Amino acid sequence: MTAVKEIPHGKASGYTDHKCRCEGCREAKREYDKAYYAANRDRIRARVKAYQAADPDRRRAQDKAKYEASRDRARARQREWKKRNPELVLAACRRRRAKKLDAPSAPYTAQQVKQRWSMFGNRCWLNPSHPAEATDHVKPLAAGGADMLANFRPICHSCNASKGAKWPLDLSSIALQRDPATAGSKPPTLTKGN
Ligand SMILES: [Zn+2]
Ligand SMILES: [Zn+2]
Repeated sequence: MTAVKEIPHGKASGYTDHKCRCEGCREAKREYDKAYYAANRDRIRARVKAYQAADPDRRRAQDKAKYEASRDRARARQREWKKRNPELVLAACRRRRAKKLDAPSAPYTAQQVKQRWSMFGNRCWLNPSHPAEATDHVKPLAAGGADMLANFRPICHSCNASKGAKWPLDLSSIALQRDPATAGSKPPTLTKGN
């Protein structure tokens, strides 16, 4: 008959001698380390200092590795966040541009921009046969347009490119870009205050 080894759970020895990783043993080990550090603080600090002073290059390399690891973690977190929140990324991009151009602005939420898009059926406002792909500043920021909801309309990339930052808007030149199927239909109108 083999005796079952009794592990003293909830004691630091459970963690160190029996390699138990249950919550009780881990907590006991944490407490033990804390008490040990408190009792030997000066000695430990002096040792660490001497170790670091003995090899400044190693110290710098360790600091650099630590810094890079935390920077990489932060970047990875940011990448993940951006993937999950594409509309917030675009909004931040619009705000940055508005700020750079010193354009007037009013706060808006991603939800409000979505509503604005749905007012135009989520289609390109210059040619509803195109699906919406971006948010257009109808009056361009560079022309003094505001970064605010009333100045937003959904647009497709191609119409956005041909529209550019021209102001006032020359709808006839944009109409030339329109698909033959819709070229005969009424060009979009700019409503006042919108
Ligand atoms: Zn345990
Ligand atoms: Zn379009």
